[in-house]
Amino acid sequence: MASEAELKAASEKYIPKDYDPALYKLRHSFAHVLAQAVVERFPQARPTIGPPVEYGFYYDFDLDVNPTEEDLQWISERMRQIIRENHPFHVREVTAEEARQIFRDNPYKLELIEGLTRGQDEYGNAAGGPVVITVYQHDGFIDLCRGPHVESTGHLDPDAFRILQVTGSYWRGDSRNKMLKRFHGTAWASAADLQAHLARLEEAARRDHRKLGRELELFANEPIFGSGFPMLLPKGATIRRILETFITDYERKAGYEHVYTPDLAKKELYIQSGHWAHYKENMFPPMEVGDGEELVLRPMCCPHHIQVYKCKPRSYRDLPVRIAELGTMYRYERSGVVGGLSRVRCMTLNDAHLFVRPDQIKEEIAGVLNLMKKAYADLGIQDYRFRLSKHDPNDKEKYVDNPEMWAKGEAMLREALVEHGLPFFEAEGEAAFYGPKIDVQVKDVMGREETLSTIQLDFHLPNQFELEYKDSDDRPKRPVMIHRGVISTMERMLAYLIELYAGAFPVWLAPVQAVLVPIADRHFDYVRHLAQRWTERDFRVTADLSSARMNAKIREAQLQKVPYILVVGDKEVAAQAVSVRLRTGEDLGPKPVAEFEALLDQMNRSRSLQ
Ligand code: ATP
Ligand code: ZN
Ligand code: ZN
Repeated sequence: MASEAELKAASEKYIPKDYDPALYKLRHSFAHVLAQAVVERFPQARPTIGPPVEYGFYYDFDLDVNPTEEDLQWISERMRQIIRENHPFHVREVTAEEARQIFRDNPYKLELIEGLTRGQDEYGNAAGGPVVITVYQHDGFIDLCRGPHVESTGHLDPDAFRILQVTGSYWRGDSRNKMLKRFHGTAWASAADLQAHLARLEEAARRDHRKLGRELELFANEPIFGSGFPMLLPKGATIRRILETFITDYERKAGYEHVYTPDLAKKELYIQSGHWAHYKENMFPPMEVGDGEELVLRPMCCPHHIQVYKCKPRSYRDLPVRIAELGTMYRYERSGVVGGLSRVRCMTLNDAHLFVRPDQIKEEIAGVLNLMKKAYADLGIQDYRFRLSKHDPNDKEKYVDNPEMWAKGEAMLREALVEHGLPFFEAEGEAAFYGPKIDVQVKDVMGREETLSTIQLDFHLPNQFELEYKDSDDRPKRPVMIHRGVISTMERMLAYLIELYAGAFPVWLAPVQAVLVPIADRHFDYVRHLAQRWTERDFRVTADLSSARMNAKIREAQLQKVPYILVVGDKEVAAQAVSVRLRTGEDLGPKPVAEFEALLDQMNRSRSLQ
């Protein structure tokens, strides 16, 4: 049997590639310390599994009581004590029989042990070879565990963890199984790191687009629609309309032509494009509509824009052809990942496909980067990084098998990034099935990365559809395709902007730019008149004609994060003015109506970020 040192060394391989090994070990160790304390508090509790996760760890117990605040405090205090006592973590290898003996009172561990003897790891996945059964022990607590752990509990900082909450979770994630209690903990190397994380959590909760989406009446999820199908309420819809006009204007000026193409098409279209072979699991199943015909909801617009290109013969002089659409598309995202607006199942992408000659690739990529730069500046997006998204040569299912094409495409995009002096990182397995991408990565409030913009180089689809243009020598040539999305899907961009601005949108994006607050009933007519006049001028203004008191109306407008709150009383009516307050509480005092109009006009035109 292997020695303790050998077992510990071998267990390092269980640390995921992208996880900081020191954090992994200490979080895993915190999980054991927590389990010991929970079992001491609730002797009837049966520990199941407790892995490190992003930012911390959890541990699931079969436990039929709901722990109170007092229980959690007791457990936390006990954990600190165990840590201070500095118990070493010992590991030893056991036979299945010994393991069954040790955990004879815990049916969950017994089930895990059976899995291990069948060559499955504790999550039921094939472990790829015979599994050595190990147990880790510190103090009196022993756990079935593959490690790794810190050397002793004294390596943990007693002030660097926090039990965040206890939720329900099914054994093995299966709703037919028993509901367990999941203790969620966050744990760090130091108390300072913990505090920084808690501050981030608080800030994230304040900015969470799902919470703000409700409070500001931007969007809602109706269970009867199903998950991943949010609806935009009038205010969310207003922002979307502004975004759509904004980006399509930029595109028109950059030589794009906008089209409308259908969301549904025959399955044959996707067989020809290769989506059926490489992208099927992201698509909704086809609809049979009789006559043996099968229709499919599109997951992308590329095949459609290809048909637009093919509508008429093209010559080298016509290129580049830039076909754009606010394309609505449908993707079967796994239910675990959909949520809010940032990952949905029905989405509208600021999509375009550029059909270019090989000698135009560079310039067109530069054009897209330029468009992106302008859009980001207007939207106030500053914190992003570029990712060169490459294919995974070992994944023949996801990616078109054409090593030469991949090498060429990836080299060209890398060159573009270098030439434009854009710092980037490279990631394998992130390409589209038809070609590599430059993705623009932003972080959400919790520091999770997601893609906003994308530029993709494609030598594949032009072949599938035998695209051609007549070259200067009169011979048919094959164009290259650039797929690009500048401001992402309207859904994801809206989610991002809500969190970026914590709902306090810059004036030019705010769904309601000003609220008129009459002091008394006799000011209603004047206020109605102003609201009408401004609405006709395309300002987004409402009048609060409710029976609430002035101060309550002002407070409500501030809560709704309306940029301008315009109070109107006798003095204002007499002077043809409004008293202007900002959502921050700042009071700008009375301004003549014409002056306020000019101010709002200026804010809209300049797309000021205030
Ligand atoms: P992801 O890796 O985010 O799933 P993808 O690589 O499948 O995206 P593309 O096919 O390039 O993405 O889609 C274009 C853009 O649409 C993405 O860059 C992203 O901004 C956005 N997007 C993709 N999937 C979703 C979704 N489910 N909900 C909202 N927006 C999405
Ligand atoms: Zn462990
Ligand atoms: Zn495309």
